[in-house]
Amino acid sequence: MPPSLEELASLIKEVQIDARRAETPDELAQAKARALGGRGFLKSALSQIKDLAPEERKAYGQQLNAYKDELEEYFRRRADEISAAAKAKAEFFDGSLPGTRVQMGRLHPIRAAMRHIVDIFVSMGFDVFTGPEMEYEKYNFDLLNIPQYHPARDDMDTFFILPGLVLRTHTSPVQVRVMEKIRKREDVIVQMISPGRVFRRDRPDATHTPCFHQVEGLQVGRGISMANMRWILDEFARKFFGPETRTRLRPDYFPFVEPGAELAVTCSMCEGKGCRVCKETGWIEVMGCGMVHPQVLLNVDISPDDYSGWAFGFGVERMAQVLYQVPDARMFFENDMRFLRQFS
Ligand SMILES: [Zn+2]
Repeated sequence: MPPSLEELASLIKEVQIDARRAETPDELAQAKARALGGRGFLKSALSQIKDLAPEERKAYGQQLNAYKDELEEYFRRRADEISAAAKAKAEFFDGSLPGTRVQMGRLHPIRAAMRHIVDIFVSMGFDVFTGPEMEYEKYNFDLLNIPQYHPARDDMDTFFILPGLVLRTHTSPVQVRVMEKIRKREDVIVQMISPGRVFRRDRPDATHTPCFHQVEGLQVGRGISMANMRWILDEFARKFFGPETRTRLRPDYFPFVEPGAELAVTCSMCEGKGCRVCKETGWIEVMGCGMVHPQVLLNVDISPDDYSGWAFGFGVERMAQVLYQVPDARMFFENDMRFLRQFS
């Protein structure tokens, strides 16, 4: 005998409760199979209709179909609700939760300092040139008035690659390469800087690394004097180290300039009063500079009678050390993220 209609009604209630509790399409399908599947109770009731008295069969069958339609509709609605809930859950955004941290890349402090330096000179009308890191001795030394056996060659412990080829020990050869090409056109014929890597066979210590960065600068034209140099370098120092910065020039020797000078800036730690950082002098030396040696101009066929120029060169690590108060240049190359993260 098939279950009575009351029994069926209560079975259907149970299945609907299960359907309401179902949270996934799988759970819903299980509940649905219990009622409407091949072995579900509606199917089995249908197959037992023949056991009923003939006059009961029609009413029972009609009620069975009504239950079947009702349940199918119920499961369709429930399936829509479940998929809508899943979609809402996937799209849910809680603005009060902490965000997912994204690891941001950043510029290395030396790269950042280099870009800052370049921007300052570009803003004053300087062009930017680069040159090869592997350089002919001719450009690295000879044309810069450092002939073979000149003692200045000993000051720059050089990596020799092949006869006549070195890893450049400074960015100054770029000056020569530019002057060779750009000549005698206007009043100011060259106004350039050259940033880049340079190499010296130095034992690493607090102020030396075998590879470091330099920025070289050059201005050549008619009537260019040390006053032009002073103004530009003052302007640069104020823009790089801060508006209160003052500069001081003192005589120094470099083979490719005459007269040569060393430029110091006021110590930012003590504002020139004297402290440990500036060794109580109030000044920190940051670069070499001077009027381009007439021989260097002659070497590239520029007449020193008609033209004059000044040049400077400095180490970017040194500048960054002074600016950021970094005690040891090696820290820039150790890639300790705790150190590097302090610069943005
Ligand atoms: Zn100081």
